Amino acid sequence: LTDNLTKLDGYLARFRPHGIQNLIAGETRPAASGSVFDTVSPVDESVICPVARGGVEDIDAAAQAAKAAFPAWRDMPAAERKKILIRIAELIEARAEEIALCECWDTGQALRFMSKAALRGAANFRFFADKVTSARDGQNLRSPTLMNVTTRVPIGPVGVITPWNTPFMLSTWKIAPALAAGCTIVHKPAEFSPLTARILAEIAHEAGLPDGVWNLVNGFGEDAGRALTEHPAIKAIAFVGESRTGSMIMKQGADTLKRVHFELGGKNPVVVFDDADLDRALDAAIFMIYSLNGERCTSSSRLLVQDTIADEFEAKLIERVNNIRVGHPLDPETEIGPLIHKVHFDKVTSYFDIAKQDGATVAAGGCRVGEEGWFVRPTLFTGASTDMTIAQEEIFGPVLTAIRFADEAEALQVANDTEYGLTAYVWTNDLTRALRFTDALEAGMIWVNSENVRHLPTPFGGVKASGIGRDGGDWSFEFYMEQKHIGFAL
Ligand code: NAD
Repeated sequence: LTDNLTKLDGYLARFRPHGIQNLIAGETRPAASGSVFDTVSPVDESVICPVARGGVEDIDAAAQAAKAAFPAWRDMPAAERKKILIRIAELIEARAEEIALCECWDTGQALRFMSKAALRGAANFRFFADKVTSARDGQNLRSPTLMNVTTRVPIGPVGVITPWNTPFMLSTWKIAPALAAGCTIVHKPAEFSPLTARILAEIAHEAGLPDGVWNLVNGFGEDAGRALTEHPAIKAIAFVGESRTGSMIMKQGADTLKRVHFELGGKNPVVVFDDADLDRALDAAIFMIYSLNGERCTSSSRLLVQDTIADEFEAKLIERVNNIRVGHPLDPETEIGPLIHKVHFDKVTSYFDIAKQDGATVAAGGCRVGEEGWFVRPTLFTGASTDMTIAQEEIFGPVLTAIRFADEAEALQVANDTEYGLTAYVWTNDLTRALRFTDALEAGMIWVNSENVRHLPTPFGGVKASGIGRDGGDWSFEFYMEQKHIGFAL
């Protein structure tokens, strides 16, 4: 821990003189208004540094820069664009330690899980670098009188709005395909965790990305975020965040007919049948809700367990949850760090009382840890039913709600009884049941006998209130590009 803190201090020193500024048209600038806000560490509530508070004027300058840079970036030979994306990946790898330490300090997420986040970010750039050369490929669809050709063209400058959880990885996940498609971007990262978005933009600049292709404007959702969604030069908004913010963005973007891509909230079930490998199911259920502080959209926040095995499964779960180590995020032994911010801490801890009022049992955790920072004990609610608030609302913390079911039909009814539909996890050794059950589950992504293992060529996204559109593989290009048809008379 001491060693990591010393390294962190060195990495943060460069932010101290001017804080975090915007990057517009290749230039590092303060907000046009001169306003700043502080980014604060959730570990001890200390101020890390001031951050430029961008607004309408900064967004306008960034959008104009993205618009001006678009034609040249779109028309740059694919091999050259590919080279730049690979260079970005290399520079991310070279600064992986700095990125991990800064991200943990800014967000409170534990280093043991975040140490690979930068490398996953680099992998995103490498993956989409490989797709640059085929991004525009189309088809020949010959008819009796026409040779029909389809091709794809980048949509134009796009706005990327990201949340505070795993901010580095998520930013690369949205930006890499946009650049590979030939779009230019304006990125508005979350106000709670701006550090690594700035490092990422610097890396892109250093990698030789032409000025104006990647613009960074920090600020709050209601001003910078809103201005970005309303700007006429911005053709589309790639957004990751809460479902209700997605709905606001849709309204804000209506006048300029924005195309939107939404990755939103989740209340994902992990369904454990009595014929499953229970030890593996237990490990996966714990990993999917208590890693990354439970602040993860794909977390399995509802445990649906068959009543024949529920007593034994819950008893083992309680024992394991009580042994999870809460501590300083830079301590390599820590499994759960502090929650991102007081606002979020107040939200998560409010469910401890709600659970009791609902009539559930707080079987583990349910309390704060220490007096400083936003630490909570990993929490398990048992005896819950699907109509309870704790079974319906996205808590977005290390909090698991366990619900028992009698048979497959009830499991399915409970699993689908939510406004969300991002992921689901099913544990059974009955293959026919797995096929039948997953076919009827309302979720964009489902894993059977596995935790969430991301494979980049597969589609990522949710149904119902969990999102619109898919990322990954070629699916990303459906959002960042336009299909074009040209018919040649024969
Ligand atoms: P949030 O919606 O509060 O904020 C996300 C971003 O939107 C921030 O940058 C914020 O400044 C901006 N914003 C807020 N209001 C805006 C407005 N009116 N116009 C434009 N921009 C605005 O979300 P959060 O609390 O930062 O993140 C947590 C949420 O993100 C959870 O619901 C989680 O499930 C979701 N999430 C989803 C995925 C996914 O892939 N489905 C991934 C990660 C997080």
